[in-house]
Amino acid sequence: MGRVIIVGGGQAGCALAARLRSQGHEGEIVLFGAEPVPPYQRPPLSKAYLTGEMAEARLYLRPEEWYADEGIALRTGTPVTAVDPAARTVSAGGETLSYDALALTTGAVPRTLAPEQGGDLGGVYTLRTLADVDRMAPAFAQGARALIVGGGYIGLEAAAVARKLGVAVTLIEMAPRILQRVAAPETSDYVRALHRRHGVEILEGTALDRLTGAAGQVAGAVLTGGREVAADFVLVGAGVLPDVALAQGAGLESKGGIVVDDRCRTSAPGVWAAGDCTVFPFRGGLVRLESVQNAIDQAECAADNILGADRAYDPVPWFWSDQYDVKLQIAGLNLGYDRVVTRPGAAEGQASTWYYRGDTLLAVDAMNEARTYMVAKRLIEGGKSPAAEVVADPATDLKALLRA
Ligand code: NAP
Repeated sequence: MGRVIIVGGGQAGCALAARLRSQGHEGEIVLFGAEPVPPYQRPPLSKAYLTGEMAEARLYLRPEEWYADEGIALRTGTPVTAVDPAARTVSAGGETLSYDALALTTGAVPRTLAPEQGGDLGGVYTLRTLADVDRMAPAFAQGARALIVGGGYIGLEAAAVARKLGVAVTLIEMAPRILQRVAAPETSDYVRALHRRHGVEILEGTALDRLTGAAGQVAGAVLTGGREVAADFVLVGAGVLPDVALAQGAGLESKGGIVVDDRCRTSAPGVWAAGDCTVFPFRGGLVRLESVQNAIDQAECAADNILGADRAYDPVPWFWSDQYDVKLQIAGLNLGYDRVVTRPGAAEGQASTWYYRGDTLLAVDAMNEARTYMVAKRLIEGGKSPAAEVVADPATDLKALLRA
């Protein structure tokens, strides 16, 4: 294998480059990133980086000199503008570069509000990049009033940070409940109660009609139903869209994400893709996973296959979220569940939600239950499905289930 070009300097792009080298690839590696900084971890952006507890350099996945040491040409601040799969070239920074293999790790972009809704007013933010957080951090000041649009992880994690910093928060969720897309009602109930205890006003089944402002600066919002709220700033955490622009421009198949097979190959020969930007075969359909686990594992699988391994990508997904003093850890993917049981924890604030399809255990949400999470992950990895009644019984020793 000669020159490998990677487009996208996020978690997946960085993992792919590292894996190529660790698997013995000796050819050139060029890693293009649109942002001006080296690849960094995104999870702390809505947590410790937003509170100011984590310095920028600690976000970097690798120190800057690592790229040179590994012979990886890191081209930050250089968006790739076109891909020609027939000629096997990419265009970036005014030049055209040929490749032997191309990997697209372009990630996702946040949904924004239309200008008709006030999306172009000052003080309206989305949270995806380091620069986004640098822009919004000064607004998170004691006594400020925030409106958060969207009750997914971004909105909820930012709400927790805001409360910690003394900001008054109203959070609206269009769906009937927060976390509806990713969790069962039992988990939503737990998280809603947590936020209400910390003084967040949560309005579910409520969308934004429009933002209001004066002199180009947001001042509040009109919600569906007509209620008006005042706000000094607005955070839009309304989900992300896969960044498929480059892939579509190159004529690659895309269906809610760049379509890849279980080898991480796109529809064009010599072009691979991994991470948030892809949809891949899982449980008989195509899924898109927006997670660190997927970014790393799929990227490493793609790297192996670029080097000829012919390995299938068959993940056990996992996720986590930190809100206040609660660590939510999720093992597996609950997609397609038809039954949920809850298991009370030993102490206040501990609980877990177990998802089944028929008798098959699909996923577990563990709230402040690190041991339960570990057991659940190993059960799912091992294809073991303890009976729901057994799991729901607090007297059951979960670890014993691993030996069953
Ligand atoms: P998300 O999980 O898709 O949540 C967005 C929520 O906002 C959805 O519930 C959506 O409702 C709602 N919404 C959309 N438009 C709205 C509107 N106009 N008014 C009110 N509610 C609206 O996405 P996210 O929270 O923005 O996060 C972005 C990505 O980062 C996701 O991939 C997320 O998983 C990831 N992330 C993960 C973590 C973690 O794992 N700890 C932390 C932060 C971010 P509908 O579902 O009805 O559209």
